[in-house]
Amino acid sequence: MTAFWTESDFDDHEFVHVVRDHASGLTAIIAVHSTHLGPGAGGTRFWHYPNPKDGLRDALRLSRGMSYKNAMAGLPAGGGKAVLLADDAHTKTAEMLAAFARAVEGLNGRYITAQDVGMSQDDMVTLKSHTDHVAGLPGQGGDPGPYTARGVFLGVKAAAERALGVADMRGVRVAVQGLGSVGGGLAHYLAKEGAELILADINQDRATAMAEKLGGIAVSTDAILSAEADIVSPNALGAIITEQSIDALKAKVIAGGANNQLATGSEGKMLQERGILYAPDYVINAGGIINVLRHIDDADDAEINARIDRIPARLTQVWDKSLATGQSPDVIADGMAQELIGRA
Ligand code: NAD
Repeated sequence: MTAFWTESDFDDHEFVHVVRDHASGLTAIIAVHSTHLGPGAGGTRFWHYPNPKDGLRDALRLSRGMSYKNAMAGLPAGGGKAVLLADDAHTKTAEMLAAFARAVEGLNGRYITAQDVGMSQDDMVTLKSHTDHVAGLPGQGGDPGPYTARGVFLGVKAAAERALGVADMRGVRVAVQGLGSVGGGLAHYLAKEGAELILADINQDRATAMAEKLGGIAVSTDAILSAEADIVSPNALGAIITEQSIDALKAKVIAGGANNQLATGSEGKMLQERGILYAPDYVINAGGIINVLRHIDDADDAEINARIDRIPARLTQVWDKSLATGQSPDVIADGMAQELIGRA
């Protein structure tokens, strides 16, 4: 039998707890990667994994991701993540959530949870009645999308200035993939500054309606990544930057809010070799988490906005280091995050 800490996704996580509660049928994994900068913060996911090992991998990978993201956002928070393992015999119940929340409470604030896939705002309220360590409750943080969209907009502008030499977005052609909470918000900001919009969403009606409202054109989801654009902004799915999609790219910049855009990790180098500027996803899309974690140090609206305003400067630091060292921006961002969490 191999020990789980020899898994490739194990990265000296500070602790990984498996929580079982027989009465409610709960099986949860709480992984805290780092508390170097503050409590390990990150969402709880309720998901049906084909194999519990997949849940463990997800918890390990996502908690490390949160360490990097929170560090690069300048937050007084480390990284953690929890997964609740769903199966055919166990649906999510109030008893199960209560058992999970008691486990979170038992960690005395070393892990702070928030909403993730498969969890609702109501579930967060249920957790809160059993533990204080919950972020992003209704009325406290709320929908992270608009905050993420503003940070992505500022990051897109910084990328445009750097790669295209423009001072504002007037006439800059931006292809936006995904027009939900983040991509839709971004499109509004871009339209306001006079960018030329090329829009795509699997919901074609949404793309058409937004193009009519904001000005611009709607194209098919197949055409968006290879559109005649200056900037491609992925705001839908992960793993969309592949060797093939890079071959077809006409844009000079990739900057968008989607998580885990690089399909395998090696695409950062390919983009660099083709002279395409990449904004590392977890640096540009931190606006939402900046707001969700506002209660950690009682940050007010002005402070939240100031933190989001610093996203372009962090990206510029990454790009400067990339230029100086020849390493791709994704590798540089990881290195900077590791340094911030004392793991360089
Ligand atoms: P959302 O569900 O509100 O919007 C996603 C949109 O993408 C939907 O309109 C959907 O129809 C569309 N879409 C799905 N597949 C598509 C495809 N193949 N081509 C084109 N469009 C497609 O989600 P969101 O909150 O806007 O998040 C978007 C991305 O940003 C996700 O990757 C998410 O993980 C990431 N992200 C979001 C936040 C946030 O604050 N919401 C924060 C960080 C990262």
